[in-house]
Amino acid sequence: MTSSTGRPEELAANLDAVRRRIDTACADAGREPGAVRLVVVTKFFPASDVRLLAGLGVTDVGENRHQEAEAKAAECADLGLRWHFIGGLQSNKAAAVASYADVVESLDRAKLVAPLARGAEQRSHEVDVLLQVSLDPPDRAGRAGADPDDVPDLAAAVEAADPLRLRGLMAVAPLGEDPRPAFARLAAIHHDLLVEHPAATWLSAGMSGDLEQAIHAGATHVRVGSAVLGSRPQFK
Ligand SMILES: *Cc1c(COP(=O)(O)O)cnc(C)c1O
Repeated sequence: MTSSTGRPEELAANLDAVRRRIDTACADAGREPGAVRLVVVTKFFPASDVRLLAGLGVTDVGENRHQEAEAKAAECADLGLRWHFIGGLQSNKAAAVASYADVVESLDRAKLVAPLARGAEQRSHEVDVLLQVSLDPPDRAGRAGADPDDVPDLAAAVEAADPLRLRGLMAVAPLGEDPRPAFARLAAIHHDLLVEHPAATWLSAGMSGDLEQAIHAGATHVRVGSAVLGSRPQFK
């Protein structure tokens, strides 16, 4: 990017490149163009960027911190975007998250089901839910997501909560490894889930660095941040 290029042009060019990567990966994997939905992860970037992205045809945005997400969703309420919450959920914040999130991708324990359902009910709005599954070894520090063995019970708990719609699974590939074996494990877990819950067809996997591998493994949603918005400011 030259310094004379403004933010709108930069976002448009980056978005174009990411859309081309998605289309190419779909073609390479023998999947329909349009089989994969792009969720642009706008965390750490201002609402003004969200507004520019909406103008470029982005329909889905992802955020991972409650306060930031809540403020941005309120500021961008006129844009008709679908808000995906993709971060760690605290049970005392879950009801509040359900008040603006259209999709909660990071449900990883049964304790979150009741507060999420309460928040959705207060808003008289169904919330789409993905179960976040950990693809890390059980002893990995900072592991996020449910153990794959816990998925059937979690799925049943979400299914039993009326204002929540079980849509599928979300995962992040383990850091610093070839993502392909991890995404293959995820696809197998998803296959098992679909036997019991045939409507849970969404598979959210793949980020800026590994969206091609995720699309090959069957991802229906990719969550792309830095490839569209640039590198995030470093925190602590
Ligand atoms: C930040 C984040 C992303 C986007 O990551 P990039 O590498 O910037 O594309 C995707 N998924 C989750 C859960 C995230 O927290």
